Amino acid sequence: MVEVAVLLPTPAYSRLSGPLSYSHSHQLAPGSLVRVPLGQRHSLGLVWHAPSAPAPEDMALKAIEQVLEGVPPLSAHWLQLVDFAAHYYQRSLGEFALACLPPQLRDLSNEQLARKLKKRSKIKNLEAPTHGACQPDLTPEQAVVLQRMASEPGPFVLHGSTGSGKTEVYLRRTAAVLASDPQAQVLMLVPEINLTPQLEERVRQRFAHLGEAAIVTMHSGMTPAQRLDHWLSAHTGQARLVLGTRMAVLASMPQLKLIVVDEEHDPSYKQQEGARYSARDLAVYRGQLEGAQVILGSATPSLESWHHSRDAVPGEPSPRYQRLSMPSRVGHAVLPQLRRVDMNHQPRNTLISAPLLAAMRERLARQEQVLVLLNRRGYAPVLHCASCGWKSECPQCSAFRVFHKTDRTLRCHHCSLTQPVPRACPGCGNQDIGSFGHGTERLEEHLAELLVDMQRPDGSPLRVARIDADSTRLKGELVRQLAQVHDGDVDVLVGTQMVAKGHDFRRVTLVAALNPDGALFSSDFRAPERLFALLMQAAGRAGRDAQMSTASPCEMWVQTFHPAHPLFETLKQHDFAAFAHQQLDERRQAGLPPFTFQALVRAEARSQEAAQAFLNQAAEAGHTWLGELELPLTLYPAVPMSMQRVANVERAQMLIESTSRPALQHFLQAWQTDLQHLRSSHKTVLRWAIDVDPLAI
Ligand code: ADP
Ligand code: ZN
Ligand code: ZN
Repeated sequence: MVEVAVLLPTPAYSRLSGPLSYSHSHQLAPGSLVRVPLGQRHSLGLVWHAPSAPAPEDMALKAIEQVLEGVPPLSAHWLQLVDFAAHYYQRSLGEFALACLPPQLRDLSNEQLARKLKKRSKIKNLEAPTHGACQPDLTPEQAVVLQRMASEPGPFVLHGSTGSGKTEVYLRRTAAVLASDPQAQVLMLVPEINLTPQLEERVRQRFAHLGEAAIVTMHSGMTPAQRLDHWLSAHTGQARLVLGTRMAVLASMPQLKLIVVDEEHDPSYKQQEGARYSARDLAVYRGQLEGAQVILGSATPSLESWHHSRDAVPGEPSPRYQRLSMPSRVGHAVLPQLRRVDMNHQPRNTLISAPLLAAMRERLARQEQVLVLLNRRGYAPVLHCASCGWKSECPQCSAFRVFHKTDRTLRCHHCSLTQPVPRACPGCGNQDIGSFGHGTERLEEHLAELLVDMQRPDGSPLRVARIDADSTRLKGELVRQLAQVHDGDVDVLVGTQMVAKGHDFRRVTLVAALNPDGALFSSDFRAPERLFALLMQAAGRAGRDAQMSTASPCEMWVQTFHPAHPLFETLKQHDFAAFAHQQLDERRQAGLPPFTFQALVRAEARSQEAAQAFLNQAAEAGHTWLGELELPLTLYPAVPMSMQRVANVERAQMLIESTSRPALQHFLQAWQTDLQHLRSSHKTVLRWAIDVDPLAI
């Protein structure tokens, strides 16, 4: 009998969060999957490195029930990745590790697993022929970039304009890596797989010669059975290419040689619940750990990545990443011109200004397509009664319920409370309830009215369509709607930021953003960065077809009350570098990331006072020993979150900031004990969690 340390999916911060000891007839390799008894239940467990101290002699160890024989142990690298991530993001090791595995591993018997594995092994990967699908000749910029990737280790920040051919670079580099080693595996991460069905298609076409089973996807929309199948494929090395969203960064890939992070600036790489990890940052860590090359690609890299890929300065530590640039669009397609409409000179409450409408009509008369962005879904954000002042507040949240006209509901976008629109004012019975503001539904309706006199060449009316989270709720609906745009069945496409992402709309020559001003003066210091990326990406949807854009230079329109704002000036020049430089200067002066490191502790309770009291007392406890350690660290007072109440739960947060990442890590690790202890004396606190490197403050 030997003692084996096993990780179990015990909840964060429970007293059982470390490895537990079990007995077994012989030693098991770390990374082996086992089934063990846990209290009254049975659980999937992961054999961990032996504990530092063996269990006391007199303790009766329970025995491991079963080893998942057919599934090879997870690699030492994978265990190390999970160990790092759990510690860095302040989660319990077992919970984090087991959450990375497909849930069906827990539920299926060894016989069922064996059958699955056997079925998969029957699908043979094809031998790679010398050439796959036909591929275009490289542009000079692509050739230079690929040359560097072939000869230098990276990590690389690939800064390429929209339409510069970044995807082609990913595909070529992938092909080269796969060809160099018959076992090599490549991981390609994308922000949201469902938003970019074109990419998956392109990847499958290009690597069709490897066989169907060589490419698998990983994302949250898969069934449990698919998740297990795809995971096993990657884990056994059968899958050569994994295309997935952030969760895929934790896939087991024993022969990983290349990680591509497309649109690396995208906020969806940061997990927003449970273990709040950044898939981009873990990709870089994983690359280093496993000797896999990492490519972070974007037209508007995150300021963190931009800063880490700055030019080397003699005497200073060398930057962590290498920057590669592709400033030109493929085939001499030109980037759109920026037009600003000064809304100070437009009538009040104008949704579409006269000059923008005129420009749109001109495009449409030439059978070109127009894309209009409005970052608010629904018909109107608020209903109100002029006679008594009633507003459509959500009874459970600190937010208004949004009026949706299509199904005549009032919906809260935070807690999902949905009710029919009242016939009369609930406050005073007034029949005449009005609405404030504009959402995409209203924009769609308004545009159809404004363009009612225009026709397509065949005499039919122009078609205005809307794509947002509401219009695409049903499965397959987004793909269908995108196809309509591609086929030219739609003349004007209205949408939220969903439509700005990655689509290759060939006939769009004008893109308009209606009211982006909110982000210019937001209290969130990352808001300008996100706005610039959104507008640049939206603009990137226009003029992707070189022939089309020489016929009529494409345009990006912005309606704003601040036309002279520096953000728009740099956008006009398509000068991301200038924008980034200016933003980084501000951040340096203000002591913000990437020059400092942050973490948030959030607490939820029935009352705001209770949530804040818990945090403030935790801060006090932290302060008492913080002084002794002399860590360069600031704890700010607890404040309500900007969305203070959601579904009748009050939310508060506390910011912790440091000039040193190790100091912050050290503090958080130790402080957890205080938080745990306090939690038991603050019974009204429902939940608390730490968010390391938070994206929204
Ligand atoms: P990005 O990812 O940088 O926005 P893509 O890789 O999608 O750009 O390329 C934009 C368009 O140019 C796509 O339609 C792609 O097929 C095409 N393209 C990319 N590289 C080349 C090339 N070397 N020659 C011809 N067309 C190319
Ligand atoms: Zn009223
Ligand atoms: Zn609500």
